[in-house]
Amino acid sequence: MSQVINKETFGVPYYRPVSQECAVFEHAYANRLPLLLKGPTGSGKSRFVEHMAATVGVPLITVSCHDETSAVDLLGRYLVQGSETVWMDGPMTRAVRTGSILYIDEIAEARPDTIVALHSLTDYRRVLFVDRHDEVLSAPPTFMLIASFNPGYQKGWKELKPSTRQRFVSIGFDYPSEQVEAEIISAESSLETSQIKKLITLANKIRNLVELGLTETVSTRLIVNAAHLMKGGLPPRLACDVAIVQPITDDLETARALRDLIALIF
Ligand code: ADP
Repeated sequence: MSQVINKETFGVPYYRPVSQECAVFEHAYANRLPLLLKGPTGSGKSRFVEHMAATVGVPLITVSCHDETSAVDLLGRYLVQGSETVWMDGPMTRAVRTGSILYIDEIAEARPDTIVALHSLTDYRRVLFVDRHDEVLSAPPTFMLIASFNPGYQKGWKELKPSTRQRFVSIGFDYPSEQVEAEIISAESSLETSQIKKLITLANKIRNLVELGLTETVSTRLIVNAAHLMKGGLPPRLACDVAIVQPITDDLETARALRDLIALIF
């Protein structure tokens, strides 16, 4: 059985708006339109969804897709329990049944049948066909479908087809301005301002080093992780190495160049 990670969140997590994304969400939600969040990993997409779901007061069900995620994983399956066979709703069915917000993270990773299963939910019908259980579910007004997609590293068949993309209202996420990013790092880690400034200088220098050819560069998430380690007392150079350099490269030469850069800043 392929693995699907489900997480239901009820609190109000901190989110610092970067542009007009909160207003777009509110309008999409009021108009029952599905949302696609496009952007690199660690740019705040999941946190935004957690924050908005808590703000509108609707439970959130998150599914993290990988290349074996199939429609069955999302819709549900019969399981043998003792001498009986019982139906188990998958996260998508459960979200529609309970009127929750469904967040499908990294939708392009999932197998194509997953995306087909979503189609009837993303148009005016707002229904879900659970064929295996012989059910057709109408989505309650509180239900919303949100998907995320990282255009940077999706290649070949992992591109989202235009026919799928055009079903969603889309918001682009990117790394925030220095000032906003500093605010986020401060709120997340409580690290002192001078150290935060150095971390952001480092991150932006690495982001601008296009010649390194990194698949994914320094995300806000990586800066937050480094800030947490530094706040806890780990020496800054070591914190930056393990939280920033190691996660973005396995190449020894590149790692050495990045460590030299760290040594110049810290
Ligand atoms: P994504 O879903 O895009 O991969 P996340 O939402 O998991 O990224 O963000 C990673 C981390 O970065 C969060 O846990 C949070 O600490 C921080 N972060 C990024 N952007 C924001 C933001 N705008 N407001 C608050 N925290 C943010």
